[in-house]
Amino acid sequence: MWDIIGHERAVQALQHSINTGHVAHAYLFAGAPHIGKTTVTLTLAQALNCAAAEPPCGTCASCRKIQRGTHPDVQFIAPLQDRLQHAPGRAEAAEPVGRRKRIRQDLIAIDDIRDMQRSVALAPLEGRCKVVVIAGAERMTIEAANALLKTLEEPPDRVVLALTTADAGLLLPTIVSRCQVVPLARLSRQQVEAVLQERWGAEPAQAHLLAALSGGRLGWAITALQDEAILTERADHVQLLTRALEAGPAERLDLAKDLGQQRDQAITMLHTWLAWARDMWLIALGCPDRIVNIDHAPALQTVAQRVGAPAGQDLILALQDTLRQLDQNVNPRLAFEVLLLSLPQQPVME
Ligand SMILES: [Zn+2]
Repeated sequence: MWDIIGHERAVQALQHSINTGHVAHAYLFAGAPHIGKTTVTLTLAQALNCAAAEPPCGTCASCRKIQRGTHPDVQFIAPLQDRLQHAPGRAEAAEPVGRRKRIRQDLIAIDDIRDMQRSVALAPLEGRCKVVVIAGAERMTIEAANALLKTLEEPPDRVVLALTTADAGLLLPTIVSRCQVVPLARLSRQQVEAVLQERWGAEPAQAHLLAALSGGRLGWAITALQDEAILTERADHVQLLTRALEAGPAERLDLAKDLGQQRDQAITMLHTWLAWARDMWLIALGCPDRIVNIDHAPALQTVAQRVGAPAGQDLILALQDTLRQLDQNVNPRLAFEVLLLSLPQQPVME
């Protein structure tokens, strides 16, 4: 039984392909971050290797090894920084420290793909087939992507590749065209809220807020439920935005200097600001029931009234532009100066 919440269509299609013996050589799971892509790929790996009557059973040795990340035939490839954060146990220990010069930890390098190619050339050790999960496939270097293309063009027997991406448009079209693309949609707010209460023991109010903030990404909601620091950080970020909106140019430049020195945290902060700006814009447009920051509704209402929809839209575009610039390694302090000086000038009282 596939123990997956939501993604019914994807699960049905995968089950059908396994039951009819038409498993593809390569799948590409596309969907927003924390939407459940890794869960789907690991459950697929379980289903392909489980010996129970209704695979995956979740309890046999094979299913448990895959769940723990210790199955020798299931390989997990991701940018090093993601592996250290999210991957099942084995991946953390697997990085050969100091063996090779790694320039960027946020990319999948050609060596990762070459290692995989050597390994899939050998028959499975324990299971029926080898499964290679390539998480965040859009983060492959161009050399890595071209190397992978060779495997996709001549797929070895008993190997299934499961690529995941937040945006299939960032992959080489030649890679996408050789995969069976499985789009994964966001869950509904009600679905996330119900699961948080029924399976994770969340209080109703807490489940209501996290479901709204999650934007249909169950993985994010569960993480935020277990780690209070996430909501604390969000509160700090919202407070900083309120301060920036109230500040004059000199104070905004000081703030830009501070933010420029902590690029990675600043990127998380910009995503919080972006959600907040979208909410303000939605309220200004007369759609308050669509907002995600439901616990800040009164403050958003106040700002929306003072700033109006066009300025709200400008703010969204400015935030998106700053995120793009940071991704392209523009000087963070400079990017924040431009952003903060372009914020609406209206004082905000809350
Ligand atoms: Zn099993």
